[in-house]
Amino acid sequence: MQSRDNNVRPKKRIPERKCIGCSESKAKNELIRIVRAPDGSISIDFTGKLSGRGAYICRSLSCFRKARKSKRLEHSLESAIPDEVYDGLERKLQQDEDKK
Ligand SMILES: [Zn+2]
Repeated sequence: MQSRDNNVRPKKRIPERKCIGCSESKAKNELIRIVRAPDGSISIDFTGKLSGRGAYICRSLSCFRKARKSKRLEHSLESAIPDEVYDGLERKLQQDEDKK
């Protein structure tokens, strides 16, 4: 019998990420990811599965607006972000908040 495995329990470590809006570290699954895809398009990744360079942010409009104002989102994604893209992302977040 392999009793030595009894003590080995899979550790439930939820990785933490820092919100670029409020700079608080939170469990990854509480944050949403904003992704710049290899083709340069920027979108909200609610599933965490899109490929590309990502930045994490709380599911919150106020954090999004902070990140926008401070340009931290642009820094994280290493890309300039046009206003209409910001507006589009903000609308999506708004819809997401309305769902709650
Ligand atoms: Zn935040």
